[in-house]
Amino acid sequence: MSSLPSFGDFVGNSAAVIQLRRAVANGRLPHSILLSGPAGAGKYTLTLMVTMALLCERQTREPHPGGDLGSFCGECRSCTRIAESLNLPALVEAAVAAREELRDTDKKDTRVLIQTHPDVLILPPDPPQLLVKLGQVRTLIHTIYSLPNEGKRRV
Ligand SMILES: [Zn+2]
Repeated sequence: MSSLPSFGDFVGNSAAVIQLRRAVANGRLPHSILLSGPAGAGKYTLTLMVTMALLCERQTREPHPGGDLGSFCGECRSCTRIAESLNLPALVEAAVAAREELRDTDKKDTRVLIQTHPDVLILPPDPPQLLVKLGQVRTLIHTIYSLPNEGKRRV
């Protein structure tokens, strides 16, 4: 099994990475964050890493000048399940293929949602238009109002 990436493997945007990790370690992460940047900058990978740091069963911290940084073990059940979402294109492809198997009436109302951890919901742009659809947002809103299944929070 290949090992999971760690924050040390993340290239670039070190100021943003440190700011996010410090917020995780201090329990001061805002309720929502918008990461923007060009394709390939690592927005999705960083999001999953921060998610692992939030939900890691071992809640590891790394000493750093100016304050500890949140980290993750990459080995616990929580980390490994979240890491299953790293290959998003493959998961979206599988979800779209499963939707294609449905009857036409169900197909229309079935939105692509990725969930490899019970407290982590990913809304990828829904093919073929690659838009976030109303049905996805409705699911997100519905999910947000229930307590986490396992961890302390939902992401
Ligand atoms: Zn972990």
